[in-house]
Amino acid sequence: MATEWNIKSRAHVCAICGERLQDKQAVASALKEIKDGYERYDAHVKCWKDAKRDWEPFSVWEGVYTAPPPPDARKEPVAKETADELLRHLCELEDPAMKNVVYVLAVMLERGKVLVERDVREQDDGTLLRVYENRKTGESFVVMDPRLRLENLGEVQQQVVALLSGTQTLAEVSAKAEEQEQKEAAADD
Ligand SMILES: [Zn+2]
Repeated sequence: MATEWNIKSRAHVCAICGERLQDKQAVASALKEIKDGYERYDAHVKCWKDAKRDWEPFSVWEGVYTAPPPPDARKEPVAKETADELLRHLCELEDPAMKNVVYVLAVMLERGKVLVERDVREQDDGTLLRVYENRKTGESFVVMDPRLRLENLGEVQQQVVALLSGTQTLAEVSAKAEEQEQKEAAADD
C-alpha cells in the first residue's frame, strides 16, 4: 500500500440516510480500503447495522458525534493544538522517513487524551496499522506502528520535541531520520 498513514475527517451527516448527525449522538465509523488509501463512512449506529453492504470494512468502531463548536470557542491551549497540527501536517506530507516521528507523536497525543486508539490491524506482511480518532474533531488517523526499538525511542522523542519547539525543520528531521534508517539497514546486513 502506497499510503502508510492517512487522515480522514468525521462527516457531519449520516452516510446512509443523509440526515445530519446530532451532538452527543452515537456514531458508527468505518474505514474502507481503496487503491491509494481509505474511504471513511460515518453513520447512525442503527443505519450502519441495518444497511446491506457488499464490502468488508478495514476497521469499524463506535464513537460519539460532537457538533463543531461556534468559531470563537475553537481556541485550544497552544501546545496541544501545535502537536495536533503537526500530526495533520505530517500525515499530509506522507514522507516515509518520518514514520517513527508520526508514530511517536500519535502516542504522545494519545497519552495527552487528544487521540483515542480505536483499532489495531495486522497486515499480511506483519505490519501493524493503528487507527486513532481525535476525541474532539472525530478525525481518524491510520498510523503505521514502526515497532521502534526502545533504544531509538528517546531520539525520536527528541525529534518530535525539536519540531514542536521549532528548533528543527521538517526537512532537517526527515534527512536525519533517513540517514539513521540507512545506518540501521547497513547494521542489519
Ligand atoms: Zn442515518
